[in-house]
Amino acid sequence: MSKNWKKYWKLGVEEFNTEYFDVTKNGELLVNEGNYVFNLHSLVKKYGSPLEVVFPFVLEKRLSDLRDYFNAFIKIQNYKGKFFYHYPMKVNQNKEFVMPLISEGAHMEVGSLNELWLVKTLWEKEKVNSKLRVLCNGPKSDSYLKLITELKAKGMAIFPIVEDEAEFKKLHKYKGDIGLRVDLNVKADTHWDKKIDRFGLSEDQILNLPTVKNFKILHYHIGSQMTSQKSILLSLKRAMEVYIELAKKNPSLDTIDMGGGFGINYEKKKFYTAKTVTKNVVNLLKKMADKAGIKHPNIIVEWGRYIVAPAQVTIYKIIAEKPIPKGNANAWYIVDGSFMNDLLDTWAIKQKWHVAPVNNANKRDFKRVWLAGSSCDSDDKYTEGGAYVLLPKLKEDEDQYVAFFDSGAYQDALASHHCLLSSPAKLIAQDGIIKIARKRETPEMVGKLFGWGNGH
Ligand SMILES: *Cc1c(COP(=O)(O)O)cnc(C)c1O
Repeated sequence: MSKNWKKYWKLGVEEFNTEYFDVTKNGELLVNEGNYVFNLHSLVKKYGSPLEVVFPFVLEKRLSDLRDYFNAFIKIQNYKGKFFYHYPMKVNQNKEFVMPLISEGAHMEVGSLNELWLVKTLWEKEKVNSKLRVLCNGPKSDSYLKLITELKAKGMAIFPIVEDEAEFKKLHKYKGDIGLRVDLNVKADTHWDKKIDRFGLSEDQILNLPTVKNFKILHYHIGSQMTSQKSILLSLKRAMEVYIELAKKNPSLDTIDMGGGFGINYEKKKFYTAKTVTKNVVNLLKKMADKAGIKHPNIIVEWGRYIVAPAQVTIYKIIAEKPIPKGNANAWYIVDGSFMNDLLDTWAIKQKWHVAPVNNANKRDFKRVWLAGSSCDSDDKYTEGGAYVLLPKLKEDEDQYVAFFDSGAYQDALASHHCLLSSPAKLIAQDGIIKIARKRETPEMVGKLFGWGNGH
């Protein structure tokens, strides 16, 4: 009897964001782009490991689906506000992520001077629609504020989001619409909702402001990777209560910006879906606005992780095995990359990942293993929270590869060079064509990053 290996490895399932993945009869991992098939085993044999493979078509599909959900529920529920998606650039600033999203209609959210500078270069070269809307979050240094003011004067649809009272004062002469960020009095189930938050104005501060004539957007951002729909809706409800109060004395206010936080089903268990949440968001805003007798606000979301995490996989080769005499796993598998460097959240926040073999995914004799990175650091490991990962037993005559799913969000900008290991090479897989976005780093290239240029 042949087992259903696709199901076994949780591939081909929409709720798991693995709908594009499949496994061949001989146990190789595949990615389907329409009727085109990328064989990940062939790719890693050809381009080497460690390897990251990016699928821009996944980004585009996820964004267009999300927009379709919002627009469908807006229509069905006769909601009068509009929906805008802003891509929070910090989630992945690689050009290969940003450009497909912009071309799919994303507006932008930036959090630093340097991110804004990149958007400015696109805008000045007329590479983006002049109507592209840009939200500016993050603490505003003088140079950041200066660039915002300059771009506004040049006609960009740019909106500074005020973080605190000092910024508010600095922006009092600003000619253009602004947003205010509120630090909501709610508790959400996410690692990042800290008891004492340094972002935004408190509810009291914001409610006690006099009328602000150019106040257009009420923004909040609770934290990333919320683990329940309840947290998303409870914070929206609290924000809408504040919005209703503010709308009474600020006629210019017409938009609620929910920030980020929509989670990814990393562990492939039961999880909320975008279809349900978008429906409930529109429903809640409509009910509350109607009851308060105010106009339905426009809706902005900045769900970054949700859109980009599933658009990349990271692949390692197992280069050694060591027995574990006593533990939940029976052996260490040492990989040719590093969790601390390439998937830093493994170390920083004990992130769990969905892991599957790239080849031999159809073998019945699996082993319970822990994975270790190639740096010299004992924290450079992945143990699935102390449990184990199931992977094929190693064979003398064949390399074994392993894939980490959903690695598209946050890992790249956090990546590092501990022990001067090379970063994974990065491939772009789109329209049946492979492009190399980042070459494999040579010792010379890595040395240069640390000042060892030109014959030292
Ligand atoms: C980080 C961030 C986001 C994106 O959060 P996700 O959890 O990736 O959706 C959105 N908005 C702001 C202001 C952020 O700081």
